[in-house]
Amino acid sequence: MAHPQPRANIARIPAYVPGKPPVVRPGVTAYKLSSNENPYPPLPGVVEAATAAVATMNRYPDMGSVALYAALSERLGVPVDDIATATGSVGLIYQVVTGFCEPGDEVVYAWRSFEAYPIAVTAAAATSVQVPLLADGRHDLDAMLAAITDRTRVVLVCTPNNPTGPAVTQTELDAFLARVPEHVVVVVDEAYLEFVRMADAVDGVATYRAHPNVVLFRTFSKAYGLAGFRVGYAVSQAPIAAALRAVSLPFGVSAVAQAAAIASLAAEAELLERVDALALERTRVRDALLAQGWDIPDAQGNFVWFPLGDRAGDLAAAADAVGVTVRPFAGDGVRVSIGEPEANDRLIEAAATLR
Ligand SMILES: *Cc1c(COP(=O)(O)O)cnc(C)c1O
Repeated sequence: MAHPQPRANIARIPAYVPGKPPVVRPGVTAYKLSSNENPYPPLPGVVEAATAAVATMNRYPDMGSVALYAALSERLGVPVDDIATATGSVGLIYQVVTGFCEPGDEVVYAWRSFEAYPIAVTAAAATSVQVPLLADGRHDLDAMLAAITDRTRVVLVCTPNNPTGPAVTQTELDAFLARVPEHVVVVVDEAYLEFVRMADAVDGVATYRAHPNVVLFRTFSKAYGLAGFRVGYAVSQAPIAAALRAVSLPFGVSAVAQAAAIASLAAEAELLERVDALALERTRVRDALLAQGWDIPDAQGNFVWFPLGDRAGDLAAAADAVGVTVRPFAGDGVRVSIGEPEANDRLIEAAATLR
């Protein structure tokens, strides 16, 4: 009997492996450091705004997210036409490949990087061209340039790179953009932008203003602590933003998510204080691990990376034993999110047992 068959590319889509929930053990507080979430609860104004929006659940959300666009436009100092909101920046990754790639067109990105990239590229029947990271976890931008062909439509630059941690500098990005063909869309995935504390950091807004082929992807999931609500946005010159909006899921960003995002922007000062605290914790954790003799790449996001290769499972097990759930990538390494100080202390202790 003939059964309905999905397109051939569907069978090739890799599975997304979500960060595991913490293991619950009597008498042990469990910590989830496996999904790069913000450990702090939302600020009070955010919960209230979201709660008020819950009362409108019988209505569709504002499909144009008008108030959210206005708030972002004002905050960033960019025209509304240059913005595209989406169901998280994962939604934007699907939209950019759907909007710019014919089947078989190529998407160049570093690997290992964000695991949603190969899923979205394969789902769109486009072709992934994965360029190995440098040994220190940074993007090999020269090799990425060399990987661009006539079929390349999109290049994804993940900075800071999830899961390894380093970010590209403005100088590196400028040199790269000067050599990428102008018809190729360059995504600068800035999911962890707010955590970056380094010299010569990328100024995304200035960069997109100077380059009609650049699009910034940003999210409320990480620094803003709204991972559960699924809201992200892109910033580019108007033609790319219009294409991203054209292929978006209608009514994808819920009213609750829109309200929470707007309230989070209003509470930005307090939110960014928490981000500062996380960035300081990140430095404390990385310094402690370096002192133990670990080789931890520069960490510009809210996570650290252990390049453990085949021993990834050992650290995951040692952390599990003290109630901390981390994110192992088999054969490659372990990513650990920065959490509450107590959780970070346990991670440091677990890491010490493997030295
Ligand atoms: C977490 C993450 C995102 C986005 O997440 P959303 O929750 O879909 O906004 C995008 N890019 C990278 C690199 C990430 O780590």
